[in-house]
Amino acid sequence: MPEPLDVLLSLCAADALGAATEFKSPDVIQARYGAAFRAYQPGSVFGFAPGEATDDSQMVVATLLGAARGEGHAGVLAAFREWLAAAPPDVGGLTRQALRLTFTEPQRLDGGALAWERGGFDGAGNGGLMRVAAAWLLGHRGAALAREAAVLTALTHADPRCVYASVFLTAFMEALADGQAYAAAAQAALGVMDSLDARDVLVEAGVLGLHTQDAHRAFRGREREARAQVRARVRSGLDGTVTSQSGYVLDTLEAAVAHARRADWWACVEPAVLGGDDSDTVACVVGAVVGARGLSTPPELLPELRLGHSWPGWDRGWIATQHLPNVLARAARSVAGTTSSP
Ligand SMILES: [Mg+2]
Repeated sequence: MPEPLDVLLSLCAADALGAATEFKSPDVIQARYGAAFRAYQPGSVFGFAPGEATDDSQMVVATLLGAARGEGHAGVLAAFREWLAAAPPDVGGLTRQALRLTFTEPQRLDGGALAWERGGFDGAGNGGLMRVAAAWLLGHRGAALAREAAVLTALTHADPRCVYASVFLTAFMEALADGQAYAAAAQAALGVMDSLDARDVLVEAGVLGLHTQDAHRAFRGREREARAQVRARVRSGLDGTVTSQSGYVLDTLEAAVAHARRADWWACVEPAVLGGDDSDTVACVVGAVVGARGLSTPPELLPELRLGHSWPGWDRGWIATQHLPNVLARAARSVAGTTSSP
């Protein structure tokens, strides 16, 4: 059984590798860095230094810091807002909007649904998928993991494609961590996705509510098709198809499923980094999946691994291996204390 800390370091290291190639094309990447990509490199468009992980890893850690507050999902949102208020080098558009829309009413959890409404129900970016591994890292398992993945995602990304992609991903991680073979784990995770009534979960959590009845209707009208699309992209990913490494959630999911089935850590992560476009996010999701498979992060990547932002609870200069253990332990203790009490 892989240790959560090792999974966390894996996703951070993969993200930090992808920081240099984000938004570049494969041709430009090959011309600048060569055909192999096995060390942190300069060249991030957001100014991340070699070894610095981007918003994807930062928001995983922000989720952990928020969970440690013991205030449920409102605590997670508060931690996201603290991260955003410290002006990170990169923030996804829908994430920023979702966090801003309820800024003056921080107890409200429906900013993601409001942002989805404002965008004409069009936004299905990967900004929830990229950070949802936190639900598994926090120790949620089984049906509770599926529910947590849905809610954490919809805090900023309420489109059912985003929500169900995340429910699949965390169930996939759980099945892989339990030792299931890759394709069997994916099949089991699709079963978890099919059995979850995510809309019910989001209503119960207050993510869909009185103020977001249009979003509720749109979710209801689209959830069946969304599940079918996730299923189709998981299957094509299992066959090795990578349609695109764009920021569209289903492209990211398919690419991650395709890359992360290979033999070892580098064989999974390196193609995601070399593929460019939203390479840091694809690599980050690959890092989470291969970590759950029990593949270890190459040790040479660990001494320089950092997060490329300072905010309350984290300092940009901190070495990940020195400070992530505490962050993770405090968050997991808080969640275990909450869920085990009567
Ligand atoms: Mg990023």
